[in-house]
Amino acid sequence: MSDRNRHIDQHVGDLLSGFIDGELTQQQRQLVTLHCDNCDECRENLAGLRELRERVGTARLSEVGEDQWRESMNDSTVELTRGIGWLLFIAGLLIVAGIGVGFFIFNPDIPVGMKLLIIAIYGGLALLLISVWRQRLIESKTDKYKDVEI
Ligand SMILES: [Zn+2]
Repeated sequence: MSDRNRHIDQHVGDLLSGFIDGELTQQQRQLVTLHCDNCDECRENLAGLRELRERVGTARLSEVGEDQWRESMNDSTVELTRGIGWLLFIAGLLIVAGIGVGFFIFNPDIPVGMKLLIIAIYGGLALLLISVWRQRLIESKTDKYKDVEI
């Protein structure tokens, strides 16, 4: 069947995506336009397809934008921000722990054994945090040599 001789009353569903993508011949485009003027079904299909294409196009654009943003975002900036975040987090925890330890140590009502226990718990916590922090530093420094064993 030649599109040239295709009757205008025939549905043009198979031509719609080509119509949107601009892949049709002049005759085919005319056929779609004329048919959609008289056929609600195909007109709605065309509108739906067009909307879908636009949505896909927008999504693709925003993905590209994100990649560019990621690329322009300096690696060292990311590391520095992360480092500062960890530093603040750990410093804050240590200060809170220190206040807790001080409160217990300088409280005469608490027995020495209990004080030592609290110091051990907070001291252990501090050491754990420091070792985590140190591990992060080592990881960030050796990121380029991931296969090399530390
Ligand atoms: Zn139709």
